[in-house]
Amino acid sequence: MSYDALVIGGGLAGCSTAAQLARRGHSVLLAEQSTYPRHKLCGEFLSPEAQSSFRRLEVLDAVRDAGASMMTRTLLTAPNGTATEHALPDSALGLSRHYLDQLLFQHACTAGVDGRPGTRVTEVQGRLDQGFSVTVGAETVEARLVFGAYGRRGHLDRTLDRPFLEQHTPYVGFKAHYTGPSAADVSNTIELHSAPGGYCGLSPVEDDRINVCWIGHTDALTDAGGTPAAMLKESLRQNPVLDERLRGLHRVSDQFRAVSQVPLMPKSRFAGDVCMIGDAAGMIAPLCGDGMAMALRTADLVTPLASEYLDGRRSASSFRSAYRTAWSNAFGRRMRLGRWIHAAAFRPGAARFLVQSCRFLPPFARWLIRTTRGRGELPYSN
Ligand SMILES: Cc1cc2nc3c(=O)[nH]c(=O)nc-3n(C[C@H](O)[C@H](O)[C@H](O)COP(=O)(O)OP(=O)(O)OC[C@H]3O[C@@H](n4cnc5c(N)ncnc54)[C@H](O)[C@@H]3O)c2cc1C
Repeated sequence: MSYDALVIGGGLAGCSTAAQLARRGHSVLLAEQSTYPRHKLCGEFLSPEAQSSFRRLEVLDAVRDAGASMMTRTLLTAPNGTATEHALPDSALGLSRHYLDQLLFQHACTAGVDGRPGTRVTEVQGRLDQGFSVTVGAETVEARLVFGAYGRRGHLDRTLDRPFLEQHTPYVGFKAHYTGPSAADVSNTIELHSAPGGYCGLSPVEDDRINVCWIGHTDALTDAGGTPAAMLKESLRQNPVLDERLRGLHRVSDQFRAVSQVPLMPKSRFAGDVCMIGDAAGMIAPLCGDGMAMALRTADLVTPLASEYLDGRRSASSFRSAYRTAWSNAFGRRMRLGRWIHAAAFRPGAARFLVQSCRFLPPFARWLIRTTRGRGELPYSN
């Protein structure tokens, strides 16, 4: 089997890139190791600029029709409960990955992509100038371009020998859906509560549910006894506002979703000649709530460049350098600021200072909110 492009991973970056390339007339194989629908660890807050990517992909109405909730405000609290509330620059959406990823995968297949759920990619060999040979499930597939859209960290990072793996990362993340009387208080607001050992987001999704998702230090998990419920109780609920909210909510997910070793360090845009998109190219700190919008945006950035390469209108080296430049221009500043705020959120004094600064200097808060996300505009014409 031979394709113009092979996309590894059917999350937001993979589905969007596959669909957009297929719409431009390229043959695309999209391999996803899990089957849909499936729950996935994520805060499920779709920041405002995600909507322009959805519009471009022609799925915005479908996302809304799936029951996405709408948010217009953000509430930030420090570990001692100091709070500040602000308007978002535009409305944001909340939809669980259970629905969203399946919707995007089906959209890609409708656009002509050969989508294969339940199919893991285990090996990639080759280069842009020779073409690639890829082990997809039990098959070997040839492709001219390969996209790594397999998320924040995977076994392929090891086989591709990516340097970021050498750095230690001490973060764990958990998520579950909740419901109850407090759900109404969160109905149009994304809340972010900082606490000793981590920070926790609350955001509404479909069916009057609240996504409760947090990232914390492994030490806080160990000190609490090793379970997510204990970590929430012993560490995060020391924040009185979060504690009060959770008193009015009960968990409806049968279990917590968990991830370990969340890698927030810089990554390369290419591993060998495999083109990395979404989290595989670089993951923004979760408190920015911008990872999914960025995953969609990498698809919007890379598609026209990849299409020009496949059509013979751009050389391999021009494709590589244009994508690297486009990525840095779009995300470089936001990634650095996100790392800085993430570090502050883990220090109670710094978190308090940040929240108080936002409270007494609303223009500073507006600047922070805007600078940790994009404007939803494309530097290329489609
Ligand atoms: C605690 C936490 C909270 C977050 N909260 C938010 C939030 O509220 N808002 C937001 O915008 N972002 C949030 N994020 C970030 C967001 O989840 C990611 O940025 C986003 O999912 C990246 O999308 P992606 O398509 O790059 O990768 P993913 O969505 O991770 O998709 C990768 C896909 O590749 C598949 N895959 C992996 N390996 C293989 C393989 N070898 N073969 C085939 N398939 C494979 C996986 O099964 C997966 O479906 C959060 C992250 C964390 C850790």
